[in-house]
Amino acid sequence: MNPTLTVLLYSSIAAAAASLGALPLRVRGVMPTAWIGWANALAAGLMLGTAYVIVVAGLNRMVLAGASGAFLGIGFIYWTHLIARTEDLDLNRLDQTGPEYGYQVLLVQSLHSASEGVAIGAAMSLNIALGVFAALAFAVHNIPEATVLCTVLRARRIRLRDAAGLAVLTNVSLVLLSIVTFSLIMAAPSLLPWALGFAMGALVYLVMMEPLPESYRQAGNTSIALVTSVAMGMVVLLKAFLL
Ligand SMILES: [Zn+2]
Repeated sequence: MNPTLTVLLYSSIAAAAASLGALPLRVRGVMPTAWIGWANALAAGLMLGTAYVIVVAGLNRMVLAGASGAFLGIGFIYWTHLIARTEDLDLNRLDQTGPEYGYQVLLVQSLHSASEGVAIGAAMSLNIALGVFAALAFAVHNIPEATVLCTVLRARRIRLRDAAGLAVLTNVSLVLLSIVTFSLIMAAPSLLPWALGFAMGALVYLVMMEPLPESYRQAGNTSIALVTSVAMGMVVLLKAFLL
């Protein structure tokens, strides 16, 4: 298959997987708070594991460019949160019903997915099999992440079907950035360490800023630490077995 089509196909699968995040709410109705915490921790661990395997696979040389890219990635998240005034936004506030909060949550989620798109694009340009692995890991990760988003949207009286659609829409940025990053690196291969560093910096910073802080309050330190580290380890183990 044409490599750009492969990027489009697998990033679209990752985006579409977000719709499955609505399923637990369809089955259970209201999610217990601890489950939301575990969903956050699972999403966080899968992000960390994927960021780790991508960087280890690709950043064996040009470490300075990679480190500079990581600073850019952290700077991008910091700056976009600053512009959107969402630096310390608690993403799981079910009692927040103002319209501004709803838009902020969707905006933050779209920016979050954009960084995951950069990671997929960089991984694809390094090695298509690694890129497919990363896209599928993000697809699995998008399910618990969308469960949390759908819970917030449901608390705002948005229908479950629409919440699932919005969860997928916030991942359109993932598809776009996957293709843009992949195409840019194909045109200018020297951008690869920058993109790998950017993805690593942005993803690690995001994990510590978005899913993790809330999860500790929702489910307690021990279970969150366990779920996050086991999820991260599973990604690293699976990569070692499969590729
Ligand atoms: Zn994510």
